[in-house]
Amino acid sequence: MDTRRCVLVSGGGSGIGRAVARRFAARGDHVTVLGRRPEPIAAVAEEIGGTALVVDLTDPQAVERACALLPARVDVLVNNAGQRMPLPTEPGLAAVADHWRRMYDHIVLPTVLLTEALLPRLARPGGRIVSIGSTAGLRGNNAYGAAKAAVHAWNHTLAARVGPEGITANVVVPGYIADTEFAFDMVQDAAEHERRAAATLVKRVGRAEDIAAAVTFVASPESGFMTGEFVNVNGGHVLGR
Ligand code: NDP
Repeated sequence: MDTRRCVLVSGGGSGIGRAVARRFAARGDHVTVLGRRPEPIAAVAEEIGGTALVVDLTDPQAVERACALLPARVDVLVNNAGQRMPLPTEPGLAAVADHWRRMYDHIVLPTVLLTEALLPRLARPGGRIVSIGSTAGLRGNNAYGAAKAAVHAWNHTLAARVGPEGITANVVVPGYIADTEFAFDMVQDAAEHERRAAATLVKRVGRAEDIAAAVTFVASPESGFMTGEFVNVNGGHVLGR
Protein backbone atom coordinates (compact mmCIF):
# COMPACT_ATOMS: atom_id res chain seq x y z
CA MET A 1 0.00 0.00 0.00
CA ASP A 2 1.23 3.51 -0.86
CA THR A 3 1.55 5.39 2.45
CA ARG A 4 2.90 8.61 0.97
CA ARG A 5 0.75 11.69 1.49
CA CYS A 6 -1.06 12.99 -1.55
CA VAL A 7 -0.24 16.69 -2.00
CA LEU A 8 -1.72 19.09 -4.58
CA VAL A 9 0.07 22.34 -5.39
CA SER A 10 -1.73 24.82 -7.64
CA GLY A 11 0.64 26.95 -9.70
CA GLY A 12 3.32 24.36 -9.02
CA GLY A 13 5.19 24.95 -12.28
CA SER A 14 7.08 28.07 -11.22
CA GLY A 15 8.19 30.33 -8.37
CA ILE A 16 6.78 29.62 -4.92
CA GLY A 17 4.64 26.68 -6.08
CA ARG A 18 7.63 24.91 -7.63
CA ALA A 19 9.65 25.32 -4.42
CA VAL A 20 6.71 24.00 -2.40
CA ALA A 21 6.32 20.99 -4.71
CA ARG A 22 10.03 20.19 -4.50
CA ARG A 23 10.01 20.37 -0.73
CA PHE A 24 7.04 18.03 -0.28
CA ALA A 25 8.55 15.59 -2.78
CA ALA A 26 11.86 15.67 -0.87
CA ARG A 27 9.90 14.60 2.23
CA GLY A 28 8.61 11.56 0.35
CA ASP A 29 5.12 12.81 -0.53
CA HIS A 30 3.47 12.30 -3.91
CA VAL A 31 2.85 15.73 -5.44
CA THR A 32 0.47 16.77 -8.22
CA VAL A 33 1.21 20.19 -9.70
CA LEU A 34 -1.54 22.17 -11.43
CA GLY A 35 -1.25 25.06 -13.88
CA ARG A 36 -2.44 26.40 -17.24
CA ARG A 37 0.76 25.97 -19.27
CA PRO A 38 1.65 22.31 -19.81
CA GLU A 39 5.43 22.71 -20.09
CA PRO A 40 6.35 24.14 -16.64
CA ILE A 41 4.22 21.68 -14.71
CA ALA A 42 5.42 18.74 -16.82
CA ALA A 43 9.04 19.72 -16.10
CA VAL A 44 8.43 19.93 -12.34
CA ALA A 45 6.46 16.67 -12.29
CA GLU A 46 9.27 14.89 -14.11
CA GLU A 47 11.91 16.34 -11.79
CA ILE A 48 10.13 15.31 -8.58
CA GLY A 49 8.49 12.08 -9.75
CA GLY A 50 5.04 13.60 -9.43
CA THR A 51 2.05 14.26 -11.67
CA ALA A 52 1.11 17.29 -13.79
CA LEU A 53 -2.47 18.40 -14.37
CA VAL A 54 -3.33 21.20 -16.81
CA VAL A 55 -6.25 23.35 -15.66
CA ASP A 56 -7.35 26.96 -15.67
CA LEU A 57 -8.50 27.40 -12.09
CA THR A 58 -10.67 30.42 -12.89
CA ASP A 59 -13.01 28.17 -14.90
CA PRO A 60 -15.49 26.21 -12.70
CA GLN A 61 -16.15 23.50 -15.30
CA ALA A 62 -12.46 22.99 -15.98
CA VAL A 63 -11.88 22.66 -12.23
CA GLU A 64 -14.60 20.02 -11.97
CA ARG A 65 -13.16 18.07 -14.92
CA ALA A 66 -9.62 18.22 -13.51
CA CYS A 67 -10.66 17.21 -10.00
CA ALA A 68 -12.40 14.12 -11.35
CA LEU A 69 -8.92 12.92 -12.40
CA LEU A 70 -7.43 13.32 -8.93
CA PRO A 71 -7.05 10.61 -6.28
CA ALA A 72 -10.02 9.89 -4.02
CA ARG A 73 -8.04 11.02 -0.96
CA VAL A 74 -6.06 14.24 -0.78
CA ASP A 75 -3.97 14.94 2.31
CA VAL A 76 -2.67 18.43 1.55
CA LEU A 77 -4.01 21.17 -0.73
CA VAL A 78 -1.75 24.17 -1.35
CA ASN A 79 -3.65 27.03 -2.98
CA ASN A 80 -0.77 28.93 -4.52
CA ALA A 81 -1.95 29.80 -8.06
CA GLY A 82 -2.66 33.44 -8.71
CA GLN A 83 -1.93 36.06 -11.31
CA ARG A 84 -1.67 39.80 -10.79
CA MET A 85 -3.42 41.75 -13.55
CA PRO A 86 -1.81 44.85 -15.09
CA LEU A 87 -3.29 48.22 -14.08
CA PRO A 88 -5.83 49.65 -16.54
CA THR A 89 -4.36 51.74 -19.33
CA GLU A 90 -7.69 53.07 -20.64
CA PRO A 91 -9.42 55.98 -18.89
CA GLY A 92 -12.91 55.62 -17.45
CA LEU A 93 -14.84 53.58 -14.97
CA ALA A 94 -15.46 50.66 -17.33
CA ALA A 95 -11.71 49.97 -17.36
CA VAL A 96 -11.56 50.26 -13.57
CA ALA A 97 -14.45 47.82 -13.17
CA ASP A 98 -12.87 45.42 -15.64
CA HIS A 99 -9.53 45.53 -13.79
CA TRP A 100 -11.11 44.84 -10.40
CA ARG A 101 -13.22 41.97 -11.74
CA ARG A 102 -10.24 40.40 -13.48
CA MET A 103 -8.09 40.69 -10.37
CA TYR A 104 -10.75 39.01 -8.29
CA ASP A 105 -11.14 36.25 -10.90
CA HIS A 106 -7.42 35.55 -11.04
CA ILE A 107 -6.58 35.81 -7.33
CA VAL A 108 -9.69 34.67 -5.44
CA LEU A 109 -11.38 32.15 -7.74
CA PRO A 110 -8.45 29.73 -8.20
CA THR A 111 -8.27 29.28 -4.44
CA VAL A 112 -11.99 29.12 -3.70
CA LEU A 113 -12.97 26.90 -6.65
CA LEU A 114 -10.21 24.35 -6.14
CA THR A 115 -10.93 24.15 -2.41
CA GLU A 116 -14.67 23.73 -2.91
CA ALA A 117 -14.12 21.03 -5.51
CA LEU A 118 -11.67 19.09 -3.34
CA LEU A 119 -13.31 19.38 0.07
CA PRO A 120 -15.05 15.98 -0.22
CA ARG A 121 -11.68 14.33 -0.94
CA LEU A 122 -9.67 15.90 1.88
CA ALA A 123 -8.47 13.46 4.52
CA ARG A 124 -10.65 13.43 7.65
CA PRO A 125 -9.04 13.79 10.11
CA GLY A 126 -5.64 15.18 9.17
CA GLY A 127 -6.32 17.13 5.96
CA ARG A 128 -4.40 20.37 5.49
CA ILE A 129 -5.37 23.38 3.39
CA VAL A 130 -2.67 26.05 3.00
CA SER A 131 -3.47 29.14 0.93
CA ILE A 132 -0.95 31.73 -0.17
CA GLY A 133 -1.95 35.26 0.81
CA SER A 134 0.17 38.39 0.61
CA THR A 135 1.38 41.28 2.74
CA ALA A 136 -0.50 43.32 0.11
CA GLY A 137 -3.66 41.82 1.61
CA LEU A 138 -2.74 43.36 4.96
CA ARG A 139 -1.97 46.87 3.84
CA GLY A 140 -2.94 47.73 0.34
CA ASN A 141 -1.63 47.49 -3.21
CA ASN A 142 -4.94 48.38 -4.79
CA ALA A 143 -7.12 45.66 -6.35
CA TYR A 144 -4.44 43.00 -5.89
CA GLY A 145 -4.22 43.69 -2.16
CA ALA A 146 -8.01 43.76 -1.88
CA ALA A 147 -8.29 40.40 -3.64
CA LYS A 148 -5.67 38.85 -1.34
CA ALA A 149 -7.51 40.33 1.66
CA ALA A 150 -10.58 38.46 0.40
CA VAL A 151 -8.59 35.21 0.50
CA HIS A 152 -7.46 36.03 4.05
CA ALA A 153 -11.03 36.70 5.20
CA TRP A 154 -12.46 33.65 3.42
CA ASN A 155 -9.97 31.38 5.18
CA HIS A 156 -11.50 32.08 8.56
CA THR A 157 -14.91 30.77 7.49
CA LEU A 158 -13.26 27.81 5.80
CA ALA A 159 -11.31 26.93 8.96
CA ALA A 160 -14.52 27.04 11.01
CA ARG A 161 -16.31 24.87 8.46
CA VAL A 162 -13.71 22.09 8.22
CA GLY A 163 -12.27 22.24 11.74
CA PRO A 164 -14.81 19.86 13.32
CA GLU A 165 -13.77 17.22 10.78
CA GLY A 166 -10.10 17.45 11.73
CA ILE A 167 -8.97 19.52 8.74
CA THR A 168 -6.94 22.71 9.21
CA ALA A 169 -6.94 25.79 6.96
CA ASN A 170 -4.23 28.43 7.22
CA VAL A 171 -2.78 31.24 5.15
CA VAL A 172 0.95 31.70 4.56
CA VAL A 173 1.49 35.40 3.87
CA PRO A 174 4.63 36.18 1.86
CA GLY A 175 6.38 39.50 1.56
CA TYR A 176 8.39 40.23 -1.59
CA ILE A 177 9.73 36.93 -2.98
CA ALA A 178 12.21 37.67 -5.72
CA ASP A 179 12.80 34.37 -7.55
CA THR A 180 9.37 34.09 -9.22
CA GLU A 181 7.79 35.09 -12.54
CA PHE A 182 5.35 37.26 -10.60
CA ALA A 183 8.16 39.26 -8.98
CA PHE A 184 9.96 39.64 -12.27
CA ASP A 185 6.83 41.23 -13.78
CA MET A 186 6.46 43.52 -10.76
CA VAL A 187 10.04 44.64 -10.01
CA GLN A 188 12.35 44.89 -12.97
CA ASP A 189 14.80 47.52 -11.80
CA ALA A 190 17.68 46.78 -9.45
CA ALA A 191 17.13 49.90 -7.32
CA GLU A 192 13.58 48.84 -6.41
CA HIS A 193 14.84 45.33 -5.64
CA GLU A 194 17.47 46.82 -3.28
CA ARG A 195 14.89 49.11 -1.67
CA ARG A 196 12.73 46.10 -0.89
CA ALA A 197 15.68 44.22 0.63
CA ALA A 198 16.58 47.23 2.78
CA ALA A 199 12.99 47.51 4.06
CA THR A 200 13.25 44.10 5.77
CA LEU A 201 14.83 43.56 9.19
CA VAL A 202 17.08 40.82 7.82
CA LYS A 203 18.27 42.97 4.88
CA ARG A 204 17.51 40.59 2.09
CA VAL A 205 14.61 39.79 -0.21
CA GLY A 206 12.61 36.61 0.22
CA ARG A 207 13.16 33.42 -1.74
CA ALA A 208 10.57 30.89 -2.82
CA GLU A 209 12.25 28.37 -0.54
CA ASP A 210 11.45 30.62 2.48
CA ILE A 211 7.76 30.24 1.72
CA ALA A 212 8.04 26.53 0.96
CA ALA A 213 9.55 25.94 4.41
CA ALA A 214 6.61 27.66 6.09
CA VAL A 215 4.05 25.83 3.93
CA THR A 216 5.46 22.39 4.70
CA PHE A 217 5.46 23.17 8.42
CA VAL A 218 1.84 24.36 8.39
CA ALA A 219 0.88 21.26 6.37
CA SER A 220 2.73 18.82 8.61
CA PRO A 221 0.87 16.20 10.67
CA GLU A 222 2.22 17.92 13.82
CA SER A 223 0.43 21.23 13.16
CA GLY A 224 -3.09 20.00 13.85
CA PHE A 225 -3.81 22.56 16.60
CA MET A 226 -3.01 25.47 14.31
CA THR A 227 -5.89 26.68 12.15
CA GLY A 228 -7.49 29.89 10.89
CA GLU A 229 -4.03 31.48 11.20
CA PHE A 230 -1.81 33.79 9.17
CA VAL A 231 1.86 32.90 9.00
CA ASN A 232 3.76 36.02 7.97
CA VAL A 233 7.00 35.37 6.11
CA ASN A 234 8.41 38.73 5.09
CA GLY A 235 11.80 39.22 6.77
CA GLY A 236 10.19 41.59 9.26
CA HIS A 237 9.26 43.94 6.46
CA VAL A 238 5.81 44.74 7.84
CA LEU A 239 7.24 45.51 11.28
CA GLY A 240 10.29 47.25 9.88
CA ARG A 241 8.52 49.85 7.83
P1 NDP B 1 4.53 32.81 -10.40
O1 NDP B 1 3.91 33.69 -11.44
O2 NDP B 1 5.88 32.25 -10.64
O3 NDP B 1 3.54 31.62 -10.04
C1 NDP B 1 2.15 31.64 -10.21
C2 NDP B 1 1.74 30.27 -10.72
O4 NDP B 1 0.32 30.17 -10.71
C3 NDP B 1 2.22 30.01 -12.13
O5 NDP B 1 2.88 28.75 -12.16
C4 NDP B 1 0.94 29.99 -12.97
O6 NDP B 1 1.08 29.05 -14.01
C5 NDP B 1 -0.12 29.58 -11.93
N1 NDP B 1 -1.43 30.12 -12.22
C6 NDP B 1 -1.79 31.43 -12.26
N2 NDP B 1 -3.09 31.56 -12.56
C7 NDP B 1 -3.56 30.29 -12.72
C8 NDP B 1 -4.84 29.76 -13.06
N3 NDP B 1 -5.88 30.55 -13.35
N4 NDP B 1 -4.99 28.42 -13.14
C9 NDP B 1 -3.95 27.60 -12.89
N5 NDP B 1 -2.70 28.05 -12.56
C10 NDP B 1 -2.53 29.37 -12.49
O7 NDP B 1 4.54 33.74 -9.10
P2 NDP B 1 4.72 33.41 -7.54
O8 NDP B 1 5.37 32.13 -7.30
O9 NDP B 1 5.30 34.64 -6.96
O10 NDP B 1 3.18 33.40 -7.08
C11 NDP B 1 2.62 32.37 -6.31
C12 NDP B 1 1.63 32.98 -5.34
O11 NDP B 1 2.32 33.80 -4.40
C13 NDP B 1 0.56 33.88 -5.98
O12 NDP B 1 -0.68 33.61 -5.37
C14 NDP B 1 1.04 35.29 -5.63
O13 NDP B 1 -0.02 36.20 -5.58
C15 NDP B 1 1.65 35.05 -4.25
N6 NDP B 1 2.59 36.05 -3.77
C16 NDP B 1 3.77 36.29 -4.43
C17 NDP B 1 4.65 37.24 -3.93
C18 NDP B 1 5.96 37.55 -4.62
O14 NDP B 1 6.59 38.55 -4.25
N7 NDP B 1 6.42 36.78 -5.57
C19 NDP B 1 4.35 37.99 -2.71
C20 NDP B 1 3.11 37.64 -2.09
C21 NDP B 1 2.27 36.69 -2.60
P3 NDP B 1 0.33 29.23 -15.43
O15 NDP B 1 0.56 30.65 -15.85
O16 NDP B 1 0.98 28.20 -16.31
O17 NDP B 1 -1.10 28.91 -15.16
